[in-house]
Amino acid sequence: MTSCCKLLVVALLPFLVSAVSWAGLADAIDPEPVAVNPIQREQAPSQPLADSRGTNSPSDSFYMRRCSPEQSLPVPHDQTRVAVLGYHNFSKTAPVTEMLMRTQEFREQMEYIRSSGLTVISMQEFLEWRFGSRELPERCVLITLDDGWRSVYTEAFPILKEYGFPFTLFLYPTYLTGRGESMNPEMIREMQQFGATIGSHSLTHPYPSQWKAEAAKGEAAYNAYMDKEMGQSREKLVELFGPVTTFCYPGGFNTEPMRERLPGYGYVAAFTVIPGKVTEDEPPLQIHRYMIFGTDPSIFRNAMDFRVAQLGKMVSTGAQPGTLPPTTPLPPFPVSPQPKSVVPHDIPAITAHLSGVSGVNFATVRMSVSGFGRVPAQVDATNRTISWTPPCRIYMPDISVHVTWNTTDGTSHKAEWSFQVDQSVTVQQ
Ligand SMILES: [Zn+2]
Repeated sequence: MTSCCKLLVVALLPFLVSAVSWAGLADAIDPEPVAVNPIQREQAPSQPLADSRGTNSPSDSFYMRRCSPEQSLPVPHDQTRVAVLGYHNFSKTAPVTEMLMRTQEFREQMEYIRSSGLTVISMQEFLEWRFGSRELPERCVLITLDDGWRSVYTEAFPILKEYGFPFTLFLYPTYLTGRGESMNPEMIREMQQFGATIGSHSLTHPYPSQWKAEAAKGEAAYNAYMDKEMGQSREKLVELFGPVTTFCYPGGFNTEPMRERLPGYGYVAAFTVIPGKVTEDEPPLQIHRYMIFGTDPSIFRNAMDFRVAQLGKMVSTGAQPGTLPPTTPLPPFPVSPQPKSVVPHDIPAITAHLSGVSGVNFATVRMSVSGFGRVPAQVDATNRTISWTPPCRIYMPDISVHVTWNTTDGTSHKAEWSFQVDQSVTVQQ
Protein backbone atom coordinates (compact mmCIF):
# COMPACT_ATOMS: atom_id res chain seq x y z
CA MET A 1 0.00 0.00 0.00
CA THR A 2 1.33 3.37 -0.87
CA SER A 3 0.03 6.77 -0.09
CA CYS A 4 0.27 9.44 -2.61
CA CYS A 5 -1.26 12.69 -3.50
CA LYS A 6 -2.19 13.60 -6.95
CA LEU A 7 -2.65 16.96 -8.49
CA LEU A 8 -5.23 17.04 -11.17
CA VAL A 9 -5.23 20.15 -13.21
CA VAL A 10 -7.86 20.76 -15.78
CA ALA A 11 -7.17 23.88 -17.68
CA LEU A 12 -10.00 26.28 -17.12
CA LEU A 13 -10.86 29.89 -17.19
CA PRO A 14 -8.26 31.77 -15.22
CA PHE A 15 -10.43 34.14 -13.26
CA LEU A 16 -13.52 32.02 -12.97
CA VAL A 17 -12.33 28.65 -11.92
CA SER A 18 -9.59 26.24 -12.61
CA ALA A 19 -10.61 22.77 -11.75
CA VAL A 20 -7.84 21.57 -9.58
CA SER A 21 -8.39 18.63 -7.39
CA TRP A 22 -6.12 17.01 -4.90
CA ALA A 23 -6.90 13.42 -4.52
CA GLY A 24 -5.12 11.63 -1.78
CA LEU A 25 -5.22 7.98 -2.60
CA ALA A 26 -4.69 6.26 0.68
CA ASP A 27 -5.38 2.78 -0.54
CA ALA A 28 -4.55 0.71 -3.52
CA ILE A 29 -7.32 0.18 -6.00
CA ASP A 30 -9.37 -2.94 -5.51
CA PRO A 31 -7.77 -5.40 -7.92
CA GLU A 32 -10.75 -7.74 -8.14
CA PRO A 33 -12.53 -8.26 -11.43
CA VAL A 34 -15.19 -5.71 -12.17
CA ALA A 35 -18.77 -6.85 -11.87
CA VAL A 36 -20.77 -5.51 -14.75
CA ASN A 37 -23.70 -3.48 -13.60
CA PRO A 38 -26.23 -3.54 -16.41
CA ILE A 39 -27.91 -0.35 -17.40
CA GLN A 40 -31.40 -0.57 -16.01
CA ARG A 41 -32.77 2.89 -16.49
CA GLU A 42 -32.30 5.36 -19.27
CA GLN A 43 -33.88 8.44 -17.77
CA ALA A 44 -33.83 10.09 -14.41
CA PRO A 45 -37.29 9.58 -12.99
CA SER A 46 -39.45 12.62 -12.53
CA GLN A 47 -40.11 11.65 -8.92
CA PRO A 48 -36.78 10.13 -8.12
CA LEU A 49 -36.50 10.25 -4.43
CA ALA A 50 -38.15 8.42 -1.68
CA ASP A 51 -37.80 10.31 1.57
CA SER A 52 -34.63 8.96 3.01
CA ARG A 53 -34.76 10.94 6.22
CA GLY A 54 -33.21 9.00 9.03
CA THR A 55 -30.86 7.13 6.76
CA ASN A 56 -29.13 9.67 4.62
CA SER A 57 -30.60 12.99 5.62
CA PRO A 58 -30.78 15.21 8.65
CA SER A 59 -32.49 14.17 11.82
CA ASP A 60 -35.84 15.73 12.79
CA SER A 61 -34.21 17.96 15.37
CA PHE A 62 -31.89 19.23 12.70
CA TYR A 63 -34.83 20.17 10.50
CA MET A 64 -36.51 21.92 13.39
CA ARG A 65 -33.49 24.13 13.78
CA ARG A 66 -33.49 25.07 10.15
CA CYS A 67 -37.15 26.00 9.82
CA SER A 68 -36.91 29.42 11.37
CA PRO A 69 -39.74 31.92 10.71
CA GLU A 70 -37.51 34.31 8.79
CA GLN A 71 -36.74 31.67 6.20
CA SER A 72 -37.65 32.80 2.71
CA LEU A 73 -40.91 31.61 1.24
CA PRO A 74 -41.08 29.36 -1.80
CA VAL A 75 -41.60 30.98 -5.19
CA PRO A 76 -42.88 29.51 -8.46
CA HIS A 77 -40.64 26.76 -9.71
CA ASP A 78 -39.00 28.69 -12.53
CA GLN A 79 -38.02 31.65 -10.35
CA THR A 80 -35.59 29.78 -8.15
CA ARG A 81 -31.87 29.93 -8.74
CA VAL A 82 -29.42 27.82 -6.82
CA ALA A 83 -25.74 28.49 -6.27
CA VAL A 84 -23.99 25.18 -5.72
CA LEU A 85 -20.76 25.66 -3.79
CA GLY A 86 -17.88 23.17 -3.89
CA TYR A 87 -15.24 23.02 -1.16
CA HIS A 88 -12.29 20.73 -0.47
CA ASN A 89 -9.86 21.14 2.42
CA PHE A 90 -9.55 23.50 5.39
CA SER A 91 -6.94 24.60 7.89
CA LYS A 92 -6.55 27.22 10.59
CA THR A 93 -2.86 27.69 9.89
CA ALA A 94 -1.59 26.05 6.70
CA PRO A 95 -0.97 28.31 3.71
CA VAL A 96 -4.07 28.62 1.59
CA THR A 97 -4.17 27.08 -1.85
CA GLU A 98 -6.97 26.70 -4.33
CA MET A 99 -7.89 23.46 -2.60
CA LEU A 100 -7.28 24.62 0.96
CA MET A 101 -9.25 27.37 2.62
CA ARG A 102 -8.63 29.08 5.91
CA THR A 103 -11.21 27.84 8.45
CA GLN A 104 -12.02 31.41 9.42
CA GLU A 105 -12.80 32.30 5.83
CA PHE A 106 -15.20 29.39 5.61
CA ARG A 107 -16.91 30.66 8.76
CA GLU A 108 -17.16 34.12 7.25
CA GLN A 109 -18.70 32.70 4.10
CA MET A 110 -21.28 30.75 6.08
CA GLU A 111 -22.03 33.89 8.09
CA TYR A 112 -22.47 35.81 4.86
CA ILE A 113 -24.96 33.23 3.60
CA ARG A 114 -26.92 33.34 6.85
CA SER A 115 -26.98 37.11 7.14
CA SER A 116 -27.94 37.56 3.49
CA GLY A 117 -31.15 35.65 3.95
CA LEU A 118 -30.16 33.01 1.45
CA THR A 119 -31.67 29.59 1.97
CA VAL A 120 -29.27 26.70 2.32
CA ILE A 121 -31.01 23.63 0.99
CA SER A 122 -30.28 19.95 1.36
CA MET A 123 -29.51 17.73 -1.60
CA GLN A 124 -32.91 16.14 -1.14
CA GLU A 125 -34.62 19.51 -1.45
CA PHE A 126 -32.47 20.43 -4.43
CA LEU A 127 -33.34 17.26 -6.32
CA GLU A 128 -37.03 17.46 -5.50
CA TRP A 129 -37.05 21.01 -6.85
CA ARG A 130 -35.07 20.10 -9.97
CA PHE A 131 -37.39 17.19 -10.71
CA GLY A 132 -40.48 19.26 -10.12
CA SER A 133 -41.96 18.09 -6.85
CA ARG A 134 -40.96 21.00 -4.62
CA GLU A 135 -40.83 24.77 -4.69
CA LEU A 136 -37.96 26.64 -3.11
CA PRO A 137 -37.18 30.26 -2.25
CA GLU A 138 -35.82 32.47 -4.99
CA ARG A 139 -32.18 32.37 -3.89
CA CYS A 140 -30.81 29.10 -2.60
CA VAL A 141 -27.42 27.68 -1.79
CA LEU A 142 -26.37 24.04 -1.93
CA ILE A 143 -23.12 23.28 -0.09
CA THR A 144 -20.94 20.41 -1.30
CA LEU A 145 -17.55 19.22 -0.09
CA ASP A 146 -15.39 16.96 -2.24
CA ASP A 147 -12.97 14.10 -1.61
CA GLY A 148 -13.38 13.44 2.12
CA TRP A 149 -10.61 15.42 3.71
CA ARG A 150 -10.40 14.97 7.47
CA SER A 151 -10.53 18.73 7.87
CA VAL A 152 -14.11 18.62 6.61
CA TYR A 153 -14.90 16.84 9.86
CA THR A 154 -12.57 18.80 12.13
CA GLU A 155 -12.90 22.29 10.63
CA ALA A 156 -15.96 22.71 8.43
CA PHE A 157 -18.43 20.40 10.12
CA PRO A 158 -18.50 22.24 13.48
CA ILE A 159 -19.32 25.44 11.62
CA LEU A 160 -21.96 23.84 9.40
CA LYS A 161 -23.52 22.28 12.49
CA GLU A 162 -23.49 25.57 14.33
CA TYR A 163 -25.25 27.32 11.46
CA GLY A 164 -27.63 24.43 10.90
CA PHE A 165 -26.69 24.19 7.23
CA PRO A 166 -27.21 20.88 5.43
CA PHE A 167 -24.41 19.80 3.10
CA THR A 168 -23.34 17.06 0.71
CA LEU A 169 -20.15 15.04 0.90
CA PHE A 170 -18.88 13.73 -2.43
CA LEU A 171 -16.71 10.79 -1.40
CA TYR A 172 -14.62 8.18 -3.15
CA PRO A 173 -14.39 4.91 -1.28
CA THR A 174 -10.64 4.33 -1.63
CA TYR A 175 -10.13 7.50 0.41
CA LEU A 176 -12.23 6.56 3.41
CA THR A 177 -9.60 4.87 5.50
CA GLY A 178 -9.15 7.44 8.24
CA ARG A 179 -5.44 7.33 7.50
CA GLY A 180 -3.39 10.30 6.45
CA GLU A 181 -5.70 13.23 5.90
CA SER A 182 -8.76 11.15 5.09
CA MET A 183 -11.91 10.71 7.13
CA ASN A 184 -13.15 7.40 8.40
CA PRO A 185 -16.74 6.15 8.00
CA GLU A 186 -17.61 6.86 11.65
CA MET A 187 -16.93 10.55 11.17
CA ILE A 188 -19.15 10.55 8.11
CA ARG A 189 -21.97 8.73 9.87
CA GLU A 190 -21.84 11.30 12.64
CA MET A 191 -22.15 14.07 10.08
CA GLN A 192 -25.15 12.32 8.53
CA GLN A 193 -26.97 12.99 11.77
CA PHE A 194 -26.38 16.71 11.27
CA GLY A 195 -27.26 17.43 7.70
CA ALA A 196 -24.80 15.46 5.57
CA THR A 197 -25.98 13.75 2.40
CA ILE A 198 -23.57 11.34 0.77
CA GLY A 199 -22.79 11.43 -2.95
CA SER A 200 -20.26 9.55 -5.05
CA HIS A 201 -17.03 11.08 -6.34
CA SER A 202 -16.02 7.90 -8.21
CA LEU A 203 -14.16 4.93 -6.71
CA THR A 204 -10.54 6.03 -7.04
CA HIS A 205 -10.74 9.64 -8.29
CA PRO A 206 -9.18 9.04 -11.73
CA TYR A 207 -7.47 11.69 -13.78
CA PRO A 208 -9.00 12.65 -17.13
CA SER A 209 -6.00 10.92 -18.71
CA GLN A 210 -7.04 7.69 -17.00
CA TRP A 211 -10.60 7.97 -18.25
CA LYS A 212 -9.29 8.62 -21.75
CA ALA A 213 -6.83 5.71 -21.59
CA GLU A 214 -9.63 3.34 -20.64
CA ALA A 215 -11.86 4.73 -23.36
CA ALA A 216 -9.11 4.15 -25.89
CA LYS A 217 -9.12 0.42 -25.05
CA GLY A 218 -12.53 0.04 -26.64
CA GLU A 219 -16.14 0.04 -25.60
CA ALA A 220 -16.09 -3.07 -23.42
CA ALA A 221 -13.09 -1.93 -21.41
CA TYR A 222 -14.50 1.56 -21.07
CA ASN A 223 -17.83 0.23 -19.90
CA ALA A 224 -16.12 -2.00 -17.36
CA TYR A 225 -14.12 0.96 -16.11
CA MET A 226 -17.27 3.03 -15.72
CA ASP A 227 -18.92 0.09 -13.95
CA LYS A 228 -16.08 0.21 -11.48
CA GLU A 229 -15.61 3.94 -11.01
CA MET A 230 -19.26 4.93 -11.08
CA GLY A 231 -21.15 1.73 -10.27
CA GLN A 232 -18.96 0.09 -7.65
CA SER A 233 -18.34 3.43 -6.00
CA ARG A 234 -22.04 3.84 -5.39
CA GLU A 235 -22.44 0.27 -4.19
CA LYS A 236 -19.70 0.71 -1.61
CA LEU A 237 -21.05 4.03 -0.42
CA VAL A 238 -24.58 2.65 -0.14
CA GLU A 239 -23.21 -0.24 1.92
CA LEU A 240 -21.51 2.19 4.27
CA PHE A 241 -23.92 5.10 4.44
CA GLY A 242 -27.30 4.36 2.88
CA PRO A 243 -28.92 5.83 -0.24
CA VAL A 244 -26.70 7.56 -2.81
CA THR A 245 -28.30 9.23 -5.83
CA THR A 246 -25.77 11.87 -6.89
CA PHE A 247 -22.39 11.80 -8.60
CA CYS A 248 -19.66 14.41 -8.80
CA TYR A 249 -17.22 14.15 -11.70
CA PRO A 250 -13.60 14.11 -10.46
CA GLY A 251 -12.08 17.33 -11.71
CA GLY A 252 -15.35 17.97 -13.51
CA PHE A 253 -14.31 15.67 -16.37
CA ASN A 254 -17.30 14.05 -18.03
CA THR A 255 -18.06 12.44 -21.34
CA GLU A 256 -21.18 11.46 -23.20
CA PRO A 257 -20.70 7.73 -22.39
CA MET A 258 -20.29 8.60 -18.71
CA ARG A 259 -23.46 10.63 -18.71
CA GLU A 260 -25.31 7.91 -20.57
CA ARG A 261 -24.39 5.26 -18.05
CA LEU A 262 -24.83 7.20 -14.82
CA PRO A 263 -28.61 6.69 -14.53
CA GLY A 264 -28.16 2.96 -14.88
CA TYR A 265 -26.08 2.88 -11.74
CA GLY A 266 -28.78 4.70 -9.79
CA TYR A 267 -27.67 8.30 -10.08
CA VAL A 268 -30.21 10.98 -10.88
CA ALA A 269 -27.89 13.98 -10.90
CA ALA A 270 -24.21 14.75 -11.46
CA PHE A 271 -22.17 17.85 -10.70
CA THR A 272 -19.47 19.62 -12.70
CA VAL A 273 -16.98 22.36 -11.86
CA ILE A 274 -18.40 24.89 -14.26
CA PRO A 275 -19.69 27.92 -12.38
CA GLY A 276 -23.18 29.29 -12.86
CA LYS A 277 -26.56 29.49 -11.20
CA VAL A 278 -28.70 26.41 -11.46
CA THR A 279 -32.16 26.96 -12.89
CA GLU A 280 -35.07 24.58 -13.28
CA ASP A 281 -33.98 23.50 -16.75
CA GLU A 282 -30.44 22.58 -15.70
CA PRO A 283 -29.31 19.35 -17.37
CA PRO A 284 -29.36 17.03 -14.36
CA LEU A 285 -26.16 15.24 -15.31
CA GLN A 286 -24.17 18.46 -15.86
CA ILE A 287 -25.07 20.64 -12.93
CA HIS A 288 -23.13 23.86 -12.57
CA ARG A 289 -21.09 24.37 -9.45
CA TYR A 290 -18.85 27.12 -8.09
CA MET A 291 -15.59 25.64 -6.84
CA ILE A 292 -14.67 27.93 -3.98
CA PHE A 293 -10.90 28.34 -3.87
CA GLY A 294 -8.94 29.41 -0.82
CA THR A 295 -6.91 31.76 -2.99
CA ASP A 296 -9.70 33.52 -4.86
CA PRO A 297 -12.46 35.25 -2.90
CA SER A 298 -14.04 36.51 -6.11
CA ILE A 299 -15.53 33.09 -6.84
CA PHE A 300 -17.59 33.13 -3.67
CA ARG A 301 -18.65 36.69 -4.41
CA ASN A 302 -19.79 35.68 -7.88
CA ALA A 303 -21.64 32.72 -6.45
CA MET A 304 -23.47 34.93 -3.98
CA ASP A 305 -24.41 37.53 -6.55
CA PHE A 306 -27.97 36.71 -7.46
CA ARG A 307 -28.72 40.18 -8.74
CA VAL A 308 -27.12 40.02 -12.14
CA ALA A 309 -26.68 37.59 -14.93
CA GLN A 310 -23.88 35.25 -14.09
CA LEU A 311 -21.20 34.91 -16.67
CA GLY A 312 -21.37 31.69 -18.53
CA LYS A 313 -24.73 30.69 -17.20
CA MET A 314 -27.53 33.13 -17.73
CA VAL A 315 -26.95 33.25 -21.46
CA SER A 316 -26.92 29.49 -21.54
CA THR A 317 -30.11 28.98 -19.55
CA GLY A 318 -32.40 26.90 -21.65
CA ALA A 319 -30.25 27.50 -24.67
CA GLN A 320 -29.44 24.76 -27.11
CA PRO A 321 -26.95 25.14 -29.92
CA GLY A 322 -28.33 27.57 -32.44
CA THR A 323 -30.97 29.02 -30.16
CA LEU A 324 -29.06 31.82 -28.47
CA PRO A 325 -31.41 34.75 -28.10
CA PRO A 326 -30.56 37.57 -30.46
CA THR A 327 -29.12 40.41 -28.45
CA THR A 328 -27.29 42.88 -30.63
CA PRO A 329 -26.76 43.23 -34.34
CA LEU A 330 -24.08 41.00 -35.75
CA PRO A 331 -20.67 42.56 -36.45
CA PRO A 332 -20.56 44.42 -39.76
CA PHE A 333 -17.41 42.50 -40.71
CA PRO A 334 -16.28 38.87 -40.88
CA VAL A 335 -15.53 37.17 -37.57
CA SER A 336 -14.57 33.73 -36.51
CA PRO A 337 -15.83 31.55 -34.98
CA GLN A 338 -18.99 32.54 -36.76
CA PRO A 339 -21.79 34.08 -34.73
CA LYS A 340 -24.05 31.47 -33.11
CA SER A 341 -21.91 28.63 -34.37
CA VAL A 342 -21.00 25.64 -32.22
CA VAL A 343 -17.28 25.01 -32.04
CA PRO A 344 -15.09 22.32 -30.43
CA HIS A 345 -13.87 23.03 -26.93
CA ASP A 346 -10.33 23.52 -28.20
CA ILE A 347 -11.17 26.78 -29.85
CA PRO A 348 -9.07 28.02 -32.74
CA ALA A 349 -8.24 31.68 -32.84
CA ILE A 350 -11.02 34.16 -32.20
CA THR A 351 -10.64 36.71 -34.96
CA ALA A 352 -12.33 39.83 -36.24
CA HIS A 353 -11.46 41.06 -39.72
CA LEU A 354 -12.12 44.76 -39.68
CA SER A 355 -12.12 44.87 -43.41
CA GLY A 356 -14.54 47.33 -44.84
CA VAL A 357 -14.54 49.43 -41.68
CA SER A 358 -13.19 52.81 -42.53
CA GLY A 359 -11.06 55.06 -40.38
CA VAL A 360 -10.03 52.44 -37.81
CA ASN A 361 -7.31 53.58 -35.45
CA PHE A 362 -5.68 50.18 -34.99
CA ALA A 363 -3.85 51.33 -31.86
CA THR A 364 -7.22 51.37 -30.13
CA VAL A 365 -8.60 48.00 -31.17
CA ARG A 366 -9.37 45.78 -28.17
CA MET A 367 -10.98 42.41 -27.63
CA SER A 368 -12.80 41.09 -24.56
CA VAL A 369 -13.98 37.51 -24.20
CA SER A 370 -16.46 36.32 -21.60
CA GLY A 371 -14.70 34.48 -18.84
CA PHE A 372 -11.37 36.10 -19.72
CA GLY A 373 -12.11 39.82 -19.71
CA ARG A 374 -9.80 41.91 -21.87
CA VAL A 375 -7.50 39.52 -23.69
CA PRO A 376 -3.98 40.17 -25.06
CA ALA A 377 -5.10 39.92 -28.66
CA GLN A 378 -2.77 40.47 -31.59
CA VAL A 379 -3.71 43.44 -33.72
CA ASP A 380 -2.52 43.36 -37.31
CA ALA A 381 -3.09 46.72 -38.95
CA THR A 382 -1.85 45.49 -42.31
CA ASN A 383 -4.34 42.67 -42.51
CA ARG A 384 -6.87 44.66 -40.48
CA THR A 385 -7.42 41.89 -37.96
CA ILE A 386 -7.51 41.39 -34.23
CA SER A 387 -7.02 37.83 -33.12
CA TRP A 388 -6.62 35.82 -29.95
CA THR A 389 -6.31 32.12 -29.22
CA PRO A 390 -7.55 30.86 -25.83
CA PRO A 391 -4.64 29.42 -23.85
CA CYS A 392 -6.69 26.54 -22.51
CA ARG A 393 -9.77 24.50 -23.14
CA ILE A 394 -12.96 26.44 -22.62
CA TYR A 395 -15.52 24.85 -20.37
CA MET A 396 -18.14 27.56 -20.62
CA PRO A 397 -20.94 26.63 -22.98
CA ASP A 398 -21.45 30.16 -24.30
CA ILE A 399 -18.78 32.64 -25.23
CA SER A 400 -19.36 36.25 -26.16
CA VAL A 401 -16.74 38.40 -27.79
CA HIS A 402 -16.57 42.17 -27.76
CA VAL A 403 -14.34 44.13 -30.09
CA THR A 404 -13.99 47.87 -29.59
CA TRP A 405 -12.14 50.48 -31.58
CA ASN A 406 -11.90 54.16 -32.14
CA THR A 407 -12.00 55.73 -35.54
CA THR A 408 -9.63 58.47 -36.50
CA ASP A 409 -12.33 61.06 -35.82
CA GLY A 410 -12.20 59.98 -32.16
CA THR A 411 -15.55 58.22 -31.95
CA SER A 412 -15.69 54.80 -30.29
CA HIS A 413 -17.35 51.74 -31.77
CA LYS A 414 -18.22 48.30 -30.61
CA ALA A 415 -19.17 45.00 -32.17
CA GLU A 416 -20.06 41.79 -30.43
CA TRP A 417 -21.02 38.25 -31.21
CA SER A 418 -21.53 34.96 -29.44
CA PHE A 419 -20.78 31.38 -30.21
CA GLN A 420 -21.18 28.14 -28.36
CA VAL A 421 -18.65 25.61 -27.20
CA ASP A 422 -19.46 21.95 -27.65
CA GLN A 423 -19.13 20.55 -24.13
CA SER A 424 -19.38 16.93 -25.11
CA VAL A 425 -15.95 15.42 -24.94
CA THR A 426 -14.71 13.20 -27.70
CA VAL A 427 -12.71 10.57 -25.91
CA GLN A 428 -10.58 9.66 -28.91
CA GLN A 429 -9.02 13.10 -28.88
ZN1 LIG B 1 -12.11 15.59 -6.08
